[in-house]
Amino acid sequence: MSIPDPAAHPPSLPVPLRAGDLFARSGLPEVLAEYLGEDEIARVRQAYEFGAEAHKGQRRLSGEPYITHPLAVAKILAGMHMNAECIQAAILHDVIEDTPIPKEEIAARFGHEVADLVDGVSKLTQIRFESHMEEQAENFRKMLLATVQDIRVIIIKLADRLHNMRTLGSMPPHKRRRIARETLEIYAPIANRLGMNTLRVELEDLGFAVSHPMRYRVLAAAVKKARGNRKEVVARIREAIAQRLEQEGLQARVQGREKHLYSIYEKMRSKRLSFSEVFDVYAFRIIVDSVDACYRALGVVHNLYKPVPGKFKDYIAIPKANGYQSLHTVLFGPYSLPIEVQIRSEDMEKVAEVGVAAHWLYKLGDSDYAHSKTQKRIREWMRGLLELQKNAGNSLDFLENVKIDLFPDEVYVFTPKGQIMELPRGATAVDFAYAVHTDVGNTCVAAKIDRQLAPLSSPLQNGQSVEIITAPGARPNPSWLNFVVTAKARATIRNYLKNLKREESIALGQRLLEQALRGYALTLADLEARSASLLAEFNTRSLDDLFEDIGLGNRLAPLVARRLEELIAGERGRHPRRPRAIREVFSRYMPAWLGGSRPSPRPLAIKGTEGMVVTFAKCCHPIPGDPIQGFVSAGRGIVIHTESCKNIKEFRKHPEKWVSVQWESDIEEDFPVEIRVYVVNQRGVLATVAAAISEMDINIDNVVIEEHDSKYSTIDFTVAVRDRVHLARLMRHIRNIDMVVRISRKKG
Ligand code: MN
Repeated sequence: MSIPDPAAHPPSLPVPLRAGDLFARSGLPEVLAEYLGEDEIARVRQAYEFGAEAHKGQRRLSGEPYITHPLAVAKILAGMHMNAECIQAAILHDVIEDTPIPKEEIAARFGHEVADLVDGVSKLTQIRFESHMEEQAENFRKMLLATVQDIRVIIIKLADRLHNMRTLGSMPPHKRRRIARETLEIYAPIANRLGMNTLRVELEDLGFAVSHPMRYRVLAAAVKKARGNRKEVVARIREAIAQRLEQEGLQARVQGREKHLYSIYEKMRSKRLSFSEVFDVYAFRIIVDSVDACYRALGVVHNLYKPVPGKFKDYIAIPKANGYQSLHTVLFGPYSLPIEVQIRSEDMEKVAEVGVAAHWLYKLGDSDYAHSKTQKRIREWMRGLLELQKNAGNSLDFLENVKIDLFPDEVYVFTPKGQIMELPRGATAVDFAYAVHTDVGNTCVAAKIDRQLAPLSSPLQNGQSVEIITAPGARPNPSWLNFVVTAKARATIRNYLKNLKREESIALGQRLLEQALRGYALTLADLEARSASLLAEFNTRSLDDLFEDIGLGNRLAPLVARRLEELIAGERGRHPRRPRAIREVFSRYMPAWLGGSRPSPRPLAIKGTEGMVVTFAKCCHPIPGDPIQGFVSAGRGIVIHTESCKNIKEFRKHPEKWVSVQWESDIEEDFPVEIRVYVVNQRGVLATVAAAISEMDINIDNVVIEEHDSKYSTIDFTVAVRDRVHLARLMRHIRNIDMVVRISRKKG
């Protein structure tokens, strides 16, 4: 190998291209000049210069500068006469995804319309399609459509895909096949729904060629051969039709028509037809200048060749779901060949080619008003179609899907395995969990959304991937009912909590009753032996129901215990015993300061995990280590207060409702408690105190700040601590901060 002599071989490439060269060479300016003004073309050029700079140094697999790709995409869209903003967005469509430039910068330079479009395309690009199941493909199409606010995002994406398909050659084979399959499964059907036929046909043939190269080649050869054989016949019929139209004074273009390869293939496959059965149809298109002329042309051809009965279709009066309009008829041609004829106006031809994109063909100014008018017209167009669909009773397929864009009431998200779930808008991770499986919902403790931990209550967005983290033994939280939106989640949580509350009430009721029975030296066995008569007397169906009643506070344990004692006394012919000593029994249910003796040696042990039937009073926030008292509250079970809570005095009148309780020794829960911190007003004081709390690994549940004067404020924190020792350590830690004047625990 020798180093070339630069003098002998002048360098051909290293001269850097001027920024404008690729723009001019792309052929885009010429296409734009057909329908845009000079100032609009200048703005498109600015987008090009910005994009070229952003993608500088990046190359496509083919080795070309990257910017050639967005330019080609823009040119496809210019062919559909999309407006200047859409063309700018097409040129910038990979900038957010592939360069460090943020959406805000695009908005600042080119306005929000362009920035929103680019952002929309980037979001679509991030959604990856992995499953190959057909129903999943359908959901994926829905998801793509549901993700976009502006239908032009989809149109840009389709043009992007078309150019990628045209230049697929540089890709490694396995990637090529994947992209081709995705094109056939996802993008071509979307183009079809939007009525963008020219684009769809090209996507399908390119996709077919790559996904089934052998079949494509065989079929292409067969078409070529058949075409040669029929060339003369086609020319003769075309000529005959054109002549007759001219004689009748109709301005018309007459074209011979051929099915594209993929549609031949699909027809052969789905209807099990031979190649000649599909291909040996002579088809023509007549394009005239008005609706009126369509019907006149129909009369002319029906006069020329006899129509096949029952084959005439008027898609002008009743357009197809994607906006397609034409007259269709079938004729008996020469040599009794069947001839298919489509008749349409130039406008209809345009819609048949570019579908929904035709709505940008009307030249509008670039004001917001004009833009919103275009959007409005599209919406009206689609709504109109919806009406038509209802009346015509055709397949709702297209509208079912475009509707999502117009009436966004669903979201589509991925499971970790790449399945797509459809949920109502506003659905949260908990809804998702229940949609996956009831057990997943019941045991979920956290969620990862797009691989980031997120609150279970976060509403899900289209295209997110959601993973639910479950823990054995975890159970639904009543607060979920505040944010779930699906009926399944709501019903399952409610039902679970109902059962749970019952279980917990039964367990608590049984403990309370055992404790009361001890005052009479009785046991649960004594109760069970006489359950029949007791249950009848209390009008309950089972012992569990009785326990539940007690646990919920609807019935008092001491009274049930006394009734049992009376019953037993009656059986044995003796007077019922007074409880072991009335004073003693009462003392079990009465705090010392109410005149009882010291609490009984075996009070009810509280663990903090009893569930919904034992709650901790919000007025005094008891924590382990505090002397506590329980108060039975009808329907709610036991509420725990601190002995020093001032609300306790309110309950003096009902000593029978007091339950002696004490903390279990090994408690692992955290309990909320309120502390009040007096601080000097100074910048950052809240942050400093909050940081001190976090340093101790303590969660802050709530903060309330109150400014007293220019010098001092109080900050009330609700924090979660394990016990009094833990709280004391926290308070010492906070007291050490200079700006803190005083700190105290808040009590009811
Ligand atoms: Mn691209």
